[in-house]
Amino acid sequence: MSRPAIAHIRLDAFRHNYRVAKQMHGGKALAVIKANAYGHGAVQCAKAIENEADGFAVACLEEALQLRLAGIKNSILLLEGFFEAAELPEIVANDLWLVVHAQWQVEILLAAKLAKPVHVWLKMDSGMHRVGLSPSGYIQAYSRLNGHPNVAKVVLMSHFANADTLSSEHTTQQIALFQQTVQNLGVVDVSLANSAAILGWPQARANWSRPGIMLYGADPLYDAKTPLRAVMQLTSQIISIRKITKGESIGYGSIFTAEKETLVGVVACGYADGYPRSAMGAPAAVEGKKTRIIGRVSMDMLFVDLTDIQTANIGSTVELWGDQILANDVAKAAGTIAYELFCNTKRVQFRYSDN
Ligand SMILES: *Cc1c(COP(=O)(O)O)cnc(C)c1O
Repeated sequence: MSRPAIAHIRLDAFRHNYRVAKQMHGGKALAVIKANAYGHGAVQCAKAIENEADGFAVACLEEALQLRLAGIKNSILLLEGFFEAAELPEIVANDLWLVVHAQWQVEILLAAKLAKPVHVWLKMDSGMHRVGLSPSGYIQAYSRLNGHPNVAKVVLMSHFANADTLSSEHTTQQIALFQQTVQNLGVVDVSLANSAAILGWPQARANWSRPGIMLYGADPLYDAKTPLRAVMQLTSQIISIRKITKGESIGYGSIFTAEKETLVGVVACGYADGYPRSAMGAPAAVEGKKTRIIGRVSMDMLFVDLTDIQTANIGSTVELWGDQILANDVAKAAGTIAYELFCNTKRVQFRYSDN
C-alpha cells in the first residue's frame, strides 16, 4: 500500500474549460500553461488540447522547449520574452513567439542577426506598472519593429492589474488608455484579456485572449455559476481516528481545543504536499459529506472534524479540493488564491484521466 494522497488531473475538464473560455471571449485563445500548467502538468495539458488550441503561452524558453520536446507543434508565446540575447537563436529555431515588454528587449531584437523573422507580441504598460512599454515608448517601439526584417508580425497586448474586481475603475482606465494609444496604428491583432477579463470585462475582448486560471476550473470572480469544471481533485484518506473529550486539544500548538466530545480524523496530506498551513477551518469533504479542517496543518498530515460523519472510517476518502470543495474556498480560508494552491501541489501522486 502506498501513501494515498493523490492529485487527479481530469484532462477532459481542462479541454471543456478551454472551449468555454474561447467561446465566451470569441476569437482565438492562447491557453496559458506556464509554471507547469499551474501545477497540473504542462505536457499533459498541452496534449489534451493540441488539436484545437490556437496556441499556448508559457513564461520562458525552458518551458517552451519542454513542450517542443514532447512534440507540441502549436504556436507558443513566451510571456516574458527573452532574458538575454543568447536565447534568440533557439527561440527562432523552435518557432516561438516573443513578448517584448521593455526597451532593452527592443534594442537587442533589432540589433540581432536572426535566421528568420520572429513573431512579436508588443506589451504596453497601460496601468499595471509591472512590465510593458509606456504609451509613448510603445508607439515608437511599434514603428521601429513593424516591418523590420527581424520581425514577422506585431500583436498588440496589455495586461490588467484588477480585472478580478468588477467594481474597479482601473480596468476601464487601462482599456481606455490602451485604445487611445493604439487607435492610429491600424493593427487588428490585439490581446488584452486574461481569465478575469474574459469573464467580467466584455469591453476588453479582442481577437486574441489569454485564459489561464479558468482553464483549471477556478473562477477568479468567484462566480459559482460559471460553467467551469475543476481539473485537479486533491484527495487523500483517513489514516487515524480518535475521540477527544471537551477541553482536550490536538496537534502542534494545540490551537484547536474541543468544546464538546469531538471525533477527529487524521488525513495523509500536509503542507509538504502543498496544502496551505494557513488554512484554518477550510472546508473538506469526507465520504462526500462536508466538514472542516481543525487544528494546525502539519507537514504530512492534517485533521478533519468527523463528529457529524458517522460513516467515516480508516481509509475513507477525503476531498481537499476538487468537485465538492472549491479550491477558491480553501484559498480564501488560507488568505491566498487558487493559483497558489495549484502551483504548490507536489509530492502527491499525479494521476491523469481523459474521458
Ligand atoms: C499568467 C498570465 C495570464 C493568465 O492569467 P489568468 O489570470 O490565470 O487568466 C495572461 N496574460 C499574462 C501576460 C500572464 O502573465
